[in-house]
Amino acid sequence: MTEITRRSLAAATFASLGATLASRPAGAQGTSGGAAFPTRPITMVIPFAPGGPTDIVGRLMAESMAREIGQPVVVENTTGAGGTLGAQRVATARPDGYTILLHHIGMGVIPTMYRRLAYDPVNGFEPLGLVTEVPMTIVGRKDIPAGNFAELIAYMKKQGDGFNLADAGIGSSSALCGALFANAIGVKPTVIPFRGTGPAMQEILGGRVDILCDQTTQTTEYIRGGQVKVFATPSRSRIATLPDIPTTAEAGLPGFEVTVWHGLYAPKGTPAPICARLTQSLQAALRDPRIVQRFSEIGTAPVSQEDATREAHQRFWTADIAKWKPIIETTGSYAD
Ligand code: ASP
Repeated sequence: MTEITRRSLAAATFASLGATLASRPAGAQGTSGGAAFPTRPITMVIPFAPGGPTDIVGRLMAESMAREIGQPVVVENTTGAGGTLGAQRVATARPDGYTILLHHIGMGVIPTMYRRLAYDPVNGFEPLGLVTEVPMTIVGRKDIPAGNFAELIAYMKKQGDGFNLADAGIGSSSALCGALFANAIGVKPTVIPFRGTGPAMQEILGGRVDILCDQTTQTTEYIRGGQVKVFATPSRSRIATLPDIPTTAEAGLPGFEVTVWHGLYAPKGTPAPICARLTQSLQAALRDPRIVQRFSEIGTAPVSQEDATREAHQRFWTADIAKWKPIIETTGSYAD
């Protein structure tokens, strides 16, 4: 059972009314009483660089949602500051449904990690539904002198700050995973931030950076092609599509786990019928056989239709903020 399903089920047992709402078919909702929506292209903001894992998922979703909704869904990469600039772009956009955000676990950690933001990271959005939950892998340049996870740890300890780790800035999943990993083994590597792990991966491939924690939606291809070394997955269990990779706990480092969930958002105040239409399109995309197929090739799967609802997304997101708060406070990984 995935973390999303597990936590959704737990929440449902405490809120039977919420569960009833969550199971209402979104297809029954429409833009009742208002003008037709959409009548022009929708902009989907991705807060990380083109070519990276969030971009890969976002572009697949945009293409499928466009087919269903009958208007282009144009991807805009608004990058920088660990995904906060893209989130800000949407939180401060006109709440008319024409600007939406595909973000990830960052929405769960940014409210604690950032003390100063030019938008409200908790109340600035209308959650529209969850999208996927993607395992992460710890990968390194091909010629790193370590053959397994234990050897990697020993090498990192020996190198100290001469060892470097790429990430997508504080607030990103790669930074979260990297910080938890470094903290767990008591080292302080040199962190090299990028505007997304797409460009970070290019530096791993070029042998200029040592390691990167990243979603399978990007790393699968490079792992299978032997272009990177893979050491472990910080998941609770092994990845079905990459079963040879040990979990970090199996490889000797229990106690830290990061899995990257993605969700879709509109700006706060977007009218409910428009949010419902966007959720309907999201759900249709998650049933699209092309999405199911492509997601499975890159090590993930769409969430259930029940999790692709506004209510389930809100519950999961709220629980995730609460889950990460004490962990971040303990590891001290703040933006300022
Ligand atoms: N995987 C990145 C992260 O670290 C973001 C990206 O998709 O580029 O959160």
